[in-house]
Amino acid sequence: MTTLICIPIMVHDPEAALRDAAAAKAAGADLVELRIDEFFAGEEHQAAAVEGLVADSPLPCIVTCRVAAEGGHYEGHEEARVGLFERLAMAVGPGAHPPRYLDIEQAKLSPAALKRLMLAMEHPEQERDLAASLIVSSHDFAGRPADLTRRILGMRRQPASVLKVAFRARSIRDNLELFDLLLERDRPTIALGMGEFGLMSRVLAPKFGGFLTFASLRPSSATAPGQPTIGELLDLYRFRSIGPATAVYGVVGYPVGHSISPQVHNAGFGAIGHDGVYLPMPIIEGYESFKATLGELLDHPRLNLRGLSVTIPHKENLVRLARESGWEIDPVAAAVGAGNTLVAERHSDGRVSRCRVLNTDVPALVDSLRELTGDLAGKRVAVVGAGGVGRAAAYGLAAAGAQVTVYNRTPERGRTLAESLAGVSGPGTIAAADPGLLAAARPDAYINCTPMGMAGAGLGPAAIPEEILSNSAPGAVVLDTVYNPEDTALVLAARKAGLRAAGGVSMFVRQAAAQFSAWTGVPPPTGLFERTAREALRGPAG
Ligand code: NAP
Repeated sequence: MTTLICIPIMVHDPEAALRDAAAAKAAGADLVELRIDEFFAGEEHQAAAVEGLVADSPLPCIVTCRVAAEGGHYEGHEEARVGLFERLAMAVGPGAHPPRYLDIEQAKLSPAALKRLMLAMEHPEQERDLAASLIVSSHDFAGRPADLTRRILGMRRQPASVLKVAFRARSIRDNLELFDLLLERDRPTIALGMGEFGLMSRVLAPKFGGFLTFASLRPSSATAPGQPTIGELLDLYRFRSIGPATAVYGVVGYPVGHSISPQVHNAGFGAIGHDGVYLPMPIIEGYESFKATLGELLDHPRLNLRGLSVTIPHKENLVRLARESGWEIDPVAAAVGAGNTLVAERHSDGRVSRCRVLNTDVPALVDSLRELTGDLAGKRVAVVGAGGVGRAAAYGLAAAGAQVTVYNRTPERGRTLAESLAGVSGPGTIAAADPGLLAAARPDAYINCTPMGMAGAGLGPAAIPEEILSNSAPGAVVLDTVYNPEDTALVLAARKAGLRAAGGVSMFVRQAAAQFSAWTGVPPPTGLFERTAREALRGPAG
């Protein structure tokens, strides 16, 4: 069964709604949902307009007049609503055309209303192939309803053709319950999680046999929180190629909404014909939520989770979980105490056979600097910042033979970093110094490992002032790990001071490429990764 894509259209003006329906068809949707709850207030001319809209719609439609109690706007009489639905379902006049589906909330479905609707839908004068069918739905915008099971049992007792359950997902774990609902369906079913944690249920609906998923025509026209656009669904997530066997990957962190990893990895999967999809997977801060969520995702018998990118704030949690679970940890991740990659291998029956944790940030950063300076042995490198990336830089560069000095805003943290890596790095060295000493240091390379200059943080000053860069050693280079924007204030300042400089895109692409080959066993299409990353940074999410 193919999972349909339905575009909801909030009807205010029937002409505009028809234009949107035509645009939905052109964009590749299968259905439109005419949300008439802001338009219909019980008047005859409004009912006639809805009838006309249904008849003229270029795509089959669902008509929904959602009540306020379930997230809609209809506050009129129930009698008027049922009367309109009855009239639409009957649609026996010349040229009449019933909607494909009528959606009504389980909570509002009285036995009397149901009887009237069923009589109208099964009216003998209706042509069978144009008959309307009933969707019985249940929504909760606050969270998972406490009585979810009871609600579903109630819905299953209705003579509906399709059941729909939607609630606000409170964590990505809620998606798994929605998937289970689809797997246990007794008829076509829609099960969707709303909000940022529910995206998985919307994109992976075809994997679990969902009847349809909703997508918005434009980013601004979503009718429920977390709805992707149809462009994202089709182009970014390759929705039409998702099926039961599709392997699932994602980026775990918080927040992850602005990550460009989904663009890059999904493009890569498409290019090599890998049956996989890569999603943002937000998990809020805290080891316990990280551990519980990863455990459930890995253990779900049908999800087929094969790999994760792990970012702030969970890179250290990943190594901790790997240690507790007895997973393999690569020597770099073990030495740095942080990982950014999980590779999950599975037996043919779906059970996890092996999990590996890698750190692909370290080699990516080292190779990016090497590209600027050549051999790193004996080079004096100033690492600015002592967070996760500062630590990765110090370790990797010292391992490549550089003499690293860490300059951090909080000098104490820089010293702790240097001390903690003293025994594990080499053949180079790691020291820490006060940030005030950077001006006189005149190293061969400067690396920014702070978020300074990152889009969204405001157009603040360059992470290393231009005066310092103008007074640098001959041939000094600058690497900014920040990749958004591509040319940060630091990169621009360095070029102005006559230094070779690079932003963080090359590091980003390298770490992603290493993840990709660890997951797929195929050499990554790095040219495509680079183009896609740059495009994504220029795009609206950039
Ligand atoms: P983190 O663990 O939060 O560490 C941030 C570091 O920056 C800390 O040392 C902090 O100093 C310092 N810092 C923060 N704001 C500062 C300011 N206004 N002035 C001076 N120092 C400041 O972050 P992280 O994980 O290391 O990531 C750092 C950056 O690396 C990210 O923002 C991201 O742009 C970049 N990154 C790039 C890639 C890539 O692939 N290119 C991958 C990952 C990250 P204190 O110790 O004093 O707080």
